[in-house]
Amino acid sequence: MFFGIIPHLCKIDKLNGPTDLTHSKKIAERDKKYLWHPLTQHKLHPNTLAIARAKGVFLYDEAGNAYIDGISSWYTAVYGHCNQFILDEVKKQMGTLDQVVFSGFTHEPAVKLAEALIPLLPYNQEKLFFSDNGSTATEVGIKMALQYHFNKGAKRNVILALEEGFHGDTFGAMSVSGLSVYNGPFEEHLIAVERISIPSNEELDEPLQKLEKRLQKGDVAAFIYEPLVQGAAAMKMHDPKGLCQVLRLMKKYEVLMVADEVMTGFGKTGTHFASDQITIKPDIICLSKALTAGLVPMAITSCTKYVYDAFYSDEMSKGLFHGHTYTANPLACAAALSGITLLQSEAIQEQLKQINQWHRDFAMEMKEHPRVQATRVLGVIFALDLNLEMERYGNLRDKLYKHFMDNGVFLRPLGNTIYILAPYIITKAQMMRIYDAIRSSLEMV
Ligand SMILES: *Cc1c(COP(=O)(O)O)cnc(C)c1O
Repeated sequence: MFFGIIPHLCKIDKLNGPTDLTHSKKIAERDKKYLWHPLTQHKLHPNTLAIARAKGVFLYDEAGNAYIDGISSWYTAVYGHCNQFILDEVKKQMGTLDQVVFSGFTHEPAVKLAEALIPLLPYNQEKLFFSDNGSTATEVGIKMALQYHFNKGAKRNVILALEEGFHGDTFGAMSVSGLSVYNGPFEEHLIAVERISIPSNEELDEPLQKLEKRLQKGDVAAFIYEPLVQGAAAMKMHDPKGLCQVLRLMKKYEVLMVADEVMTGFGKTGTHFASDQITIKPDIICLSKALTAGLVPMAITSCTKYVYDAFYSDEMSKGLFHGHTYTANPLACAAALSGITLLQSEAIQEQLKQINQWHRDFAMEMKEHPRVQATRVLGVIFALDLNLEMERYGNLRDKLYKHFMDNGVFLRPLGNTIYILAPYIITKAQMMRIYDAIRSSLEMV
């Protein structure tokens, strides 16, 4: 049934020469006339590379150069690009029902997805609310948590979030994000948030006592956190024990726990969800990115029955009045359902274990390198901190990026951190190519 999940694209189609942007001039030049790219200062970075197609782990530019997609196109295309099984399922759906209003109507793709996803989520999750992307997933999570207390007549207005957290770019999501280096212009308009950090195993007592004292005021509505790995904070990882103690306190003081699993969800940390590795389960979970396997945007905010029940009322105004036009788009639901089918397959589960082993071996080797400060591995995530100071989007970072591309590998270093989050279908030879590119980059810095 799963024949074709792992495409036999083990060999690199073509060895790359130095990245030559002139090859793709036609599209890249036409791009400049009308297009405005995300997270880009166009004056400093005027050039883009036109990608013509993608298959499996590879991105191909217009000249035919192949690049291994070392970050699964921002953690989305984890079953490989243009995966035939997913494409077939979505094509079938495309000819049946393309889009319909999800208020008053329902459809089979949404119901089937829910029936597949709920049993996979932590046991206390019972309801799914759809939206369009990771930012809206967290936005909905925050609104759910705030209105939950409002509906119960409790005066709780404070939100707690992790230092260096990242939850998206809409206003609510931006407010709870601690990485606000580039959010300066909006600072006065953000909602009020207090920040905490996850205590390390060595010093649990004091920070926990401080947190408990804060919670005793009774005004905290919610705590939002990226469980186990903070992706945008350069794959910063924390100890599950420390997080678990923090969550225990949140639970004790009826603070709703919102787990942002937009990045960590669907196998990245070695379990289906990072929350699977923590005893205390969240009240609300935010999902996107790999949810739809890199095909189309969609997000889900799941919650427990008691969260849902706080909105279930004879009073109209107690409902959650949030809705996006493309809510539960049938094509996105079909993509998500086929992604979940693949995730549960033996082939993919075996790959997750393999990749983890390769990463751990590579980390052992890298740890000894004089240019390396630290290495981290969790599930299929590998991260390495260089032994030097670097700007998040500075010159050296650009050099590293170019070095990787010249070697046929797409990686996006974050500050002094180089990380890998490749598609699960990657072969050993392809992973070794990524490792080689990282090894040679260390000789350059
Ligand atoms: C990417 C990300 C988001 C935002 O998702 P978008 O789809 O880019 O809006 C939110 N939270 C986390 C943890 C993310 O990694």
